[in-house]
Amino acid sequence: MSKMRRGDLYDKRYYERRGYNRRKRKMIAYALRGAVCVVAVLILTLIICGILYVAEHLFSKDTEANASNLQTEGSVEGELQGEDISGEVMNGQDSAVPEEPPKYLVVLDAGHGGKDEGTAKDKAKEKDINLAVVLKMDELLREKGVETFLTRDSDSFVKLTDRAVIANDQGASLFVSIHCNSFAEDKRVKGLECYYHPESDSGKELAESLCEKLKESGEIETRSARAEDYSVLRNTDCQAVLVEIGYLTNDEERAMLLDEEYQEKLARELVEALCSINTEMIPEEGPAD
Ligand SMILES: [Zn+2]
Repeated sequence: MSKMRRGDLYDKRYYERRGYNRRKRKMIAYALRGAVCVVAVLILTLIICGILYVAEHLFSKDTEANASNLQTEGSVEGELQGEDISGEVMNGQDSAVPEEPPKYLVVLDAGHGGKDEGTAKDKAKEKDINLAVVLKMDELLREKGVETFLTRDSDSFVKLTDRAVIANDQGASLFVSIHCNSFAEDKRVKGLECYYHPESDSGKELAESLCEKLKESGEIETRSARAEDYSVLRNTDCQAVLVEIGYLTNDEERAMLLDEEYQEKLARELVEALCSINTEMIPEEGPAD
């Protein structure tokens, strides 16, 4: 063991300082290298992103084109399977297929219903008799192949103004409203009446012909055709008639109107008369199977 000399101490400090400086330089060098690495990684990342962006852009253009191709194919398929087949899409030769003529549609309107009973006397309610006759007329018309639509087929309330709207929306060719009459002032009054709108020539013609036919047949007591500004006659776009099938205030007629056989007779007579007047309502091919 030797004693440390003064010079040795200086040396030691010198070396310590030198070591410190060396470590400091090393640290700076590491830091610089680290920074260079980070920058390099950043640049590399940017380059990769750029390449990916360009590649994606090009690729997406490609897939868009493919997708639109697929879509076109899909829509052609859809047109072939769907309802809107135009002759051009299917086959050039088929474009001459004639359009089906619009069908003759009879809209039957059972007056009143639900909370609106109409005329009532004893147990006779107008709404029920109207519906019973309309349902029988509907059956008879369908048997003949005539297309029908009912403003109501049950004891439900249908607003008066909606009845004409329903007929117009359905594209009715003929509108027939069924009602029962009342005349408390003279209970002897009875018989069926046909009403038309005062401004409708086709309605007048139909109402008059209908009364004429029923009188000819002699099965139903019939009065005459009359003009009246009824809502269902005024607001329907097609030929329209309102039939008051009898008077509930007449005891005899009321009893008949409540009788199912008479209701059937009424329905049959009305349908036969309507069909003989508007012969175009019965399809040539007859009723569908
Ligand atoms: Zn009525």
